[in-house]
Amino acid sequence: MKRITIKELLAHSADYVDKTVDVKGWVRTRRGNKNVQFVALNDGSTINNLQIVFDLSKTPEEALKPITTGSSIHVRGKLVASAGKGQSVEVQADNFEIYGTASPETYPLQKKGHTLEFLREIAHLRPRTNTFGAVLRIRHALAFAIHNFFNDKGFYYFHTPLITASDCEGAGAQFQVTTLPLDQLPRTEDGAVDYREDFFGKMASLTVSGQLEGELGATALGNIYTFGPTFRAENSNTPRHLSEFWMIEPEMAFYEIEDNMDLAEEFIKYCIGYALEHCADDIRFLNDHFDKELIDRLHFVLKNDFVRLPYTEGVKILEESGKKFEFPVYWGVDLASEHERYLVEEHFKRPVILTDYPKEIKAFYMKMNDDGKTVRAMDVLFPKIGEIIGGSQREEDFDKLSKRIEELGLTGMDWYLDTRRYGSVPHSGFGLGFERLVLFVTGMQNIRDVIPFPRYPKNCEY
Ligand code: ATP
Ligand code: MN
Repeated sequence: MKRITIKELLAHSADYVDKTVDVKGWVRTRRGNKNVQFVALNDGSTINNLQIVFDLSKTPEEALKPITTGSSIHVRGKLVASAGKGQSVEVQADNFEIYGTASPETYPLQKKGHTLEFLREIAHLRPRTNTFGAVLRIRHALAFAIHNFFNDKGFYYFHTPLITASDCEGAGAQFQVTTLPLDQLPRTEDGAVDYREDFFGKMASLTVSGQLEGELGATALGNIYTFGPTFRAENSNTPRHLSEFWMIEPEMAFYEIEDNMDLAEEFIKYCIGYALEHCADDIRFLNDHFDKELIDRLHFVLKNDFVRLPYTEGVKILEESGKKFEFPVYWGVDLASEHERYLVEEHFKRPVILTDYPKEIKAFYMKMNDDGKTVRAMDVLFPKIGEIIGGSQREEDFDKLSKRIEELGLTGMDWYLDTRRYGSVPHSGFGLGFERLVLFVTGMQNIRDVIPFPRYPKNCEY
């Protein structure tokens, strides 16, 4: 007989009542008395458990002994309406087999309510908890929603390289990729490392952003998006930074900054709406156990227009707020998360798109405004998160862009400049940090808790 997932069984229970079903999963709890034993079975397909009832007049209690929390079993039995509280149906076990036991002496996930910090230390097992099951199913749904959104809009999924030799994307410190023997580095005559002997014949690293290559895609296919892993070797031990994270980077030919903002707002609302519709049980669980305002906050973001505000006005609001910030705020400063969150959570009380930042604190490829001081950047700032999206209209003018590249002393950019040399067009794009979106939708507090195997300074387990 074919295994039925618990999700399918509960969703269509009327079709299965009074029929024999085969279910397989992991035991959450077993309890009961001398006459009857109840097992709460979870198979990961849903946060909801299926109750299995063992009649001890048919099954000797001794045979159930190995069925402890964490063990894996296969049960065949009849699905019946349940008289008990907490579930509408249950399975009356006819027979069962045990796949694997989980010794109660050593299995770490015994009691409910382990702290998130403890679970981070056993990150290889935490997907088996209700909390991480919920987070990981929501993560899946959001990834699916992202592909849906762009595919429906006619965007092409464009794969940019993870290994790159361009060291000037300016987005953060890079991890070097090398096969050179580190204890015996080949040297040039003047003593520098001789990268001609390295695997790629030049210095290479893991990508910090697929944007520059994404622009090559957009100036050929029109509208593209990337969705892939990104690596940053910054030593930032914050609840919002990972060393390895996933980024979505749409890039659109013929889009001006306003079109870019419209797209970003529509996109993020679509993702949130999709999760609310398809992950209702999981979001409800997280709302009830971690963040009582989660569902309200998600609906609130869906209902309200994002504020659109130039950086200069944002700084004015912060200066006039009278609030004591940890980091000083003045025109020209790269805003810290506390500043961003003040604007969003205390001043406007809704998401804010901050635009037209000073050119000094933004990347070289952003389009210069007529004032010569600011660029057409846009950061989307979210409650609890701060920056969730960073984007801009790109400088399409060959002369201005190459002058800027020269000013900053960047090299090896000739391939990129070809987009401006041949058939240059106005274009725009942005980057959404996938885990920051998952953080927002799950209401979790720490980005290390929304990716199965987090990578951060001094941590590379599993
Ligand atoms: P921040 O100022 O928050 O460090 P950033 O300005 O360096 O971010 P961008 O280069 O604009 O980030 O990258 C685009 C998006 O990628 C950000 O808006 C954010 O959502 C996400 N992001 C950036 N760095 C990280 C990181 N280390 N871990 C997780 N997400 C990140
Ligand atoms: Mn940014």
